[in-house]
Amino acid sequence: MNDCLFCKIIAGEIPSKKVYEDEWTYAFHDIAPQAQTHVLVVSKKHTPDVAHNADLTDQELAACLRTCAKVADLQGLTGNGFRIVNNCGENACQTVKHIHFHVLGGEKLSEKMA
Ligand code: AMP
Ligand code: ZN
Repeated sequence: MNDCLFCKIIAGEIPSKKVYEDEWTYAFHDIAPQAQTHVLVVSKKHTPDVAHNADLTDQELAACLRTCAKVADLQGLTGNGFRIVNNCGENACQTVKHIHFHVLGGEKLSEKMA
């Protein structure tokens, strides 16, 4: 049995506030937003993190970035800018071991991190 939180969200077994979905990706609002707009973009295919990117096809991997940009557009972030964050592993404090990207914006973000 797959015990992954984001796999369950993709499957609709755990509720989420969907922003966008296509063949390869699913995007939804973060439950604990760290910016005025904070959306998570996840690959529909499970792999733990970016270090395991070889588990995904080029199409599946590229779709993540395209969906981040699509989400930014849908959320009205493109004009003033936005940030895409990926946490990979312990030092980055990754908490959910299913590859995902944070799309943050809607306000001026900290200069301190990236
Ligand atoms: P990370 O720390 O990079 O692994 O990011 C995991 C993110 O998932 C955090 O920002 C959490 O707030 C978010 N999160 C955890 N559970 C849920 C949930 N059920 N629905 C939406 N976002 C969640
Ligand atoms: Zn998963």
